[in-house]
Amino acid sequence: MEFIPQMVPDFDKCEADACYEYMLSNGFVTEFTKTKEMEDMIVQYTGAKHCFMVNNGTISLVLGLLALGVKVGDYVVVPNLTMIATANAVCLLGAHPILVDVNDDDLTIGLTYLNDILDKYKPKVIIHVSLNGRCNKLREIRDYCDKYHIGLLEDSAQCMGIFYKGKHLGRYGHIGSFSFSSPKIISTGQGGALITDNDELAIKIRSLKDFGRHTSGGDFHPYFGINCKFTDIQAVIGIEQMKKLPNRVIRKREIWNIYYNRLSKITNMIHNSSETWIPWFVDIYVDDPISLGKYLKENKIGTRYIYPPINTQPIYKNTKYNTIYQNYSNDITEKWSKRGLWLPSSTKLTDDEIGYICDKVEYFLIRDKKESTQLNSN
Ligand SMILES: *Cc1c(COP(=O)(O)O)cnc(C)c1O
Repeated sequence: MEFIPQMVPDFDKCEADACYEYMLSNGFVTEFTKTKEMEDMIVQYTGAKHCFMVNNGTISLVLGLLALGVKVGDYVVVPNLTMIATANAVCLLGAHPILVDVNDDDLTIGLTYLNDILDKYKPKVIIHVSLNGRCNKLREIRDYCDKYHIGLLEDSAQCMGIFYKGKHLGRYGHIGSFSFSSPKIISTGQGGALITDNDELAIKIRSLKDFGRHTSGGDFHPYFGINCKFTDIQAVIGIEQMKKLPNRVIRKREIWNIYYNRLSKITNMIHNSSETWIPWFVDIYVDDPISLGKYLKENKIGTRYIYPPINTQPIYKNTKYNTIYQNYSNDITEKWSKRGLWLPSSTKLTDDEIGYICDKVEYFLIRDKKESTQLNSN
């Protein structure tokens, strides 16, 4: 049997043919009509008013922060449980991340912690990360931001295809940010996008990603901007991926359900009953994810550990990077982070493969339990 990777992107002949055709079309390869077509598809799918493709999902966060007016020395709220890019985007601008703990039920920024921060730091922006597509308090977070005039940037890198209470993720924020890197729900190898319903923010984003130009190709620069452009060759891949998104969402849910039916009694799985929720990856929480990961690897199954808390990453721990971290007595980020394991989650997985993975997880955990009961009875 072949090794089952934790994640592989899902491409086939559709993408291959589209690339072939594009390369024979005398296109300039850089972003142009195909990129516009992909942006229009995202607008259509998410319901957002504007969409801008950029080179990746870290730069999209940086541009989102710039468009929302973040400057050197400003404070930006970041969940302590997220991919490192969320915090690094803040640091790149010379702003300070305030790392806050997450909720127990959805692993997103805890509203209750925000009050401690508000008066002391007056944050300019809150970055909400719907980790693994989960969010139970996004509306409340948006209301909170509006009440206190704070910008809301949604890092929805893991959320393409996911709706919450009738609205696509990324649309609760003033700006939403997506990633299309290889492991994401749909992929263009690298790539990112920003969506917004706000015309003024749209103008800012458009010029920020294209040297601060008024019109593309011109040499007149009324604004500040750099080059974060996408390419049409990626866009033709993205267009094919967008066409597959509805079916991919269905398959993602099926995959979760198979795992959930088998494993939710012996591991901790954070279920979300919303019909429109799908996980990016299948995450389980166990006492010893490291041993389980090793055991699965011996059985040709790839896994990945959930992110360590940002405040424990060497770069943030050793230099502090001007980070504000409050110590919480009940550290929920730490509690989940040290127990979490992502299981194979590609839409290329077959039901048989998932069955095999569940067998191995089950065997490991039940064997473990038997051994410890034996030890206890000895
Ligand atoms: C993947 C990811 C990013 C970074 O996106 P890239 O396209 O890899 O730069 C940022 N935030 C979160 C939550 C992510 O999962």
